Amino acid sequence: MDHFHYRGGQLYCEDLPVADLAEQFGTPLYVYSQAAFLDTFNALRTAFAAVDPLICYAMKANSNLGILKMLAERGSGFDVVSGGELYRVVAAGGDPGKTVFAGVGKTDEEIEEALVAGVLMFNVESEEELENIARVASQAGKVAPIALRVNPDVDPKTHRYISTGKKESKFGMDIDRALRVAESAVKIPSLTMIGMHMHIGSQITTVEPYAGAVAKGVDIIEKLRKMGHPVRWYNVGGGFGIDYKAHEAKPIQAFADVIVPAVQSTGCRLAMEPGRVMSGNAGILVSRVLYTKQSGEKRFLIQDAAMNDLIRPALYESFHKIWPVSVPSGLPAPPDDFEGAIAGTDPWDVVGPVCESGDFLAKDRALPRLERGALLATFSAGAYGMVMASNYNTRPRAAEVLVEGTNARLVRRRETYDDLILQERL
Ligand SMILES: *Cc1c(COP(=O)(O)O)cnc(C)c1O
Repeated sequence: MDHFHYRGGQLYCEDLPVADLAEQFGTPLYVYSQAAFLDTFNALRTAFAAVDPLICYAMKANSNLGILKMLAERGSGFDVVSGGELYRVVAAGGDPGKTVFAGVGKTDEEIEEALVAGVLMFNVESEEELENIARVASQAGKVAPIALRVNPDVDPKTHRYISTGKKESKFGMDIDRALRVAESAVKIPSLTMIGMHMHIGSQITTVEPYAGAVAKGVDIIEKLRKMGHPVRWYNVGGGFGIDYKAHEAKPIQAFADVIVPAVQSTGCRLAMEPGRVMSGNAGILVSRVLYTKQSGEKRFLIQDAAMNDLIRPALYESFHKIWPVSVPSGLPAPPDDFEGAIAGTDPWDVVGPVCESGDFLAKDRALPRLERGALLATFSAGAYGMVMASNYNTRPRAAEVLVEGTNARLVRRRETYDDLILQERL
């Protein structure tokens, strides 16, 4: 998290004090570091250079236009899961020809839009979808480039809600079925199978699940080619984990070490769909303490960010580091280990103003006593944060700021009350 660091007890994003950003743009506020995004983007390009990677940033993790534009300008491709996301690619100046279209429930309209835009390929998740893409393409007088999403039946050992590569998952096709579907696809003139796709889950912190999956993929690609499919893309999906606590995730190079040789043995180009690993630690959520209160032994820190701003703790019981933006004297920068005792702290539930018991950012979290008005940083909030934000309790969604060095750019203004009722009629 070095692009978010403390200098003299003050949290900085790159070269700007986060407290100044909160002053200027208000809270709750998402703050992103451009350098953090680009460091990971470049690390991926370097680690996988031997297989000429096309990085298709999985924008469902964070689809702010300012971020997409910044990545598109550097040659990034995109992984989209809806017509709306494809619309964002185009709006941000991205290249549909470097865009892969995934998702189990593509509608006819979305398929048509993607064909007209000229996406690189569709990741096909079922036999019926394959037939439907063929039909829509044929009616449009086009040939749809596709990759079969194969389910390699590996256990990524992650949270059950974000595991996608096991047999019982709704995503993809098991290997036998995929091969049968591929066999029947050979004769369909409006399809060309140029790739093979897998995506086994998210927040995967070890390399073993990938090692098992990519080996199976090599075998599948060989079989697809024997059938006559011109497979030239090996798409390994996304899922690389990040450090939410200390150093739980393996570095990118470790994933490359198991993936590159397998892809190389097929002669394919590598496509990959990193989402969380690019955006997660490139963003924080800044909030302001409204009240503190005690109820029996329990201490509550009530602050102005809520589950509608960041739902991950409520949805997945996920852990985010939380620490004051201005560290009270005598306390360290955020400790690596929140489990041990930290001098000068007590356990606090960090909660928001929403009327739900599930509205919390952390429970029993070691924090110093803070005054009303103090600023808090919730770290690792750049992925699956703002994209899942809602207007629950008729709360305007937060603003987003993209920092580059000493420059901060508002890439999404805070919603107004008028924004909140705009679509409704009396
Ligand atoms: C969600 C998703 C990704 C991105 O996953 P991360 O864990 O954020 O890297 C990539 N590919 C597909 C098909 C997805 O559904």
